[in-house]
Amino acid sequence: MSKRDFYDILGVAKSASAEEIKKAYRKLAIKYHPDKNPDDKAAEEKFKEAAEAYEILSNPEKKQRYDQFGHAGAGGGGGYGGGGMNMEDIFSQFGDIFGGGGGSPFESFFGGGGQSRGGGGRRVAKGSNLRIKVKLTLEEIAHGAEKKIKVSKQISCQTCDGTGAKDKSSVSTCQTCGGSGAVRRVTNTILGQMQTTATCPTCQGSGQQITAKCTTCHGEGTTRGEETISINIPAGVSEGMQLSMSGKGNAAPHGGIPGDLIILIEELPHETLKREGNNIVYDLHLSFIDATLGHSVEVPTIDGKAKIKIEPGTQSGKLLRLKGKGIPEVNSYHRGDQIIHVNIWTPKVLNAEERAILEKLKESPNFKPQPGKNDKSFFDKMKEYFE
Ligand SMILES: [Zn+2]
Ligand SMILES: [Zn+2]
Repeated sequence: MSKRDFYDILGVAKSASAEEIKKAYRKLAIKYHPDKNPDDKAAEEKFKEAAEAYEILSNPEKKQRYDQFGHAGAGGGGGYGGGGMNMEDIFSQFGDIFGGGGGSPFESFFGGGGQSRGGGGRRVAKGSNLRIKVKLTLEEIAHGAEKKIKVSKQISCQTCDGTGAKDKSSVSTCQTCGGSGAVRRVTNTILGQMQTTATCPTCQGSGQQITAKCTTCHGEGTTRGEETISINIPAGVSEGMQLSMSGKGNAAPHGGIPGDLIILIEELPHETLKREGNNIVYDLHLSFIDATLGHSVEVPTIDGKAKIKIEPGTQSGKLLRLKGKGIPEVNSYHRGDQIIHVNIWTPKVLNAEERAILEKLKESPNFKPQPGKNDKSFFDKMKEYFE
């Protein structure tokens, strides 16, 4: 199933400002809020959809990737990001969209700062995001790569399985909320009386009380550790691009939701090939004899060696194109080209015999430069290939 465009979901133009995006989301969040639409699945879906769109479009980095790569760039496919959000995420991340104003008529919807949620249920702690750099060769960028990387991070405590409790008998159901993690309260708003749920003050929403702490993690539920993570890098990424893997960041205290792993791409320089956008540029050096007589040469490409034919009379500066031998666009079938820049090598040292031969040829009219109207200027050629 293909996803709806995030801008369409929020009903804003691509050029909308951050304030306009926030306003549009707020309107939809109120309209479809579960407190106003109890037991309405369709409203809940709309509510989630709007939150997901807002999550991306309210974050300048994610928005830029979405604008560039669509849903794939925003974490909707290719194994990056989970796609879709649950109610917990929405309330914990965007609860404060209505808060801050103090006494806002909408405060009760979100408990004035994300402390409560309409859907009720447990409040879950979230682990922090982890950032790593991944260095890639040009070949890895061209073909995509699977990288196994050992990262040092907060992991779930092995002794207590992340609960923070000494053993099973030291975990009991919270007396205040009966294990739901939430307490109900009724508030008056300009829209009438609303029943809302607030996080249980006794257990902070976990629904459990711990009587004896785990001695390994001292009740935190996490310890420092290492994990080897397998990262699938799609073909076509570039220097500075960021990928995120949902749930691969630091573990959260007390068995909560782990943070995300943010992967920053770094390009390693190639010995002979240079990247120019999605094209690859290669400098070929030919003797003036080969360029004059014609020749067949092997050139390196990111797919291995390729044989190319040099026509007799090839001029220095000529650009040859190997179609489709460049870098693919991320999540697209389109691939750039390899461009071969011909350089004619002029001998720097001659022996007496060579000098004599060349001196003899010097006066021949064939050896005098005769640029024709079809010989394009360097500037025109650059424009033709790179624009
Ligand atoms: Zn522990
Ligand atoms: Zn409780």
